[in-house]
Amino acid sequence: MAKKSIGKAPARKKVSAGKPAGRKVVVKKAAVKKAVSAKAADRKPAASAKKPAAAKVWKPKPWTPAQIEEAFRRFQAQEPEPKGELKHTNAFTLLVAVVLSAQATDAGVNKATPALFALADTAEKMAALGEDKIRDLVKTIGLFRTKARNVHLLAQKLIAEHGGEVPADRAALEALPGVGRKTANVVLNMAFGQPTMAVDTHIFRIGNRTGLAPGKNPLEVELKLEAQIPATYMLHAHHWLILHGRYICLARKPQCWKCIISDLCQWPDKTPSP
Ligand code: SF4
Repeated sequence: MAKKSIGKAPARKKVSAGKPAGRKVVVKKAAVKKAVSAKAADRKPAASAKKPAAAKVWKPKPWTPAQIEEAFRRFQAQEPEPKGELKHTNAFTLLVAVVLSAQATDAGVNKATPALFALADTAEKMAALGEDKIRDLVKTIGLFRTKARNVHLLAQKLIAEHGGEVPADRAALEALPGVGRKTANVVLNMAFGQPTMAVDTHIFRIGNRTGLAPGKNPLEVELKLEAQIPATYMLHAHHWLILHGRYICLARKPQCWKCIISDLCQWPDKTPSP
């Protein structure tokens, strides 16, 4: 018994000695709780601070007809006859160059096409050249296997259905392998002088960024631009916008300080002069 009582006492002592420590832990836990709730309280304003940011979602006002006229007047004054940058010699080579340019740069396509077009600048010659040879000639361009197949097939289809000629018709163009709406628009505009708007990545960005033609997809932007740009500017409008996007209104850092439509553009985060 004595042994037991002797044994218990130190144990109790230890327990009692441990009590303050235990209280300390409790205190610490409480402190931690407080700190956590304080942090949470701190976070609340941060979370609510995000709300104004969300509320800041930028909604551009529609451009007025006078603003649109002024923007394109300036583009025209700066570059009266804008040209596309894809090398070509006729409607067929233009069509092929545009097909090859999908998800590739014009400069990259221009490196490959002179050798290709030297051998085949008509649908008949391209069909005769064959898919393997075409593939070999365009192998420096992205997606070259699919593109070579499409170029060969479209040459055959042009011969079979259009007498080897490039049709000046959207539906007929879009029925060709590898030809979508944008390619058809480029060909209709450049080869046949139709006032189309080929919305590429640059024009899509400019339409949205400037507030000129906000849209969720290229077709929406295309239709808004077509509806708003005065007819007198439509023939060259897509080139002006492409060049503007390629050299001034760059994707990552638009050069707003040298932009000729900076005062008209509604983009709220314009890049200051370096
Ligand atoms: S001001 Fe800036 S964002 Fe607006 S169109 Fe010009 S370069 Fe683009």
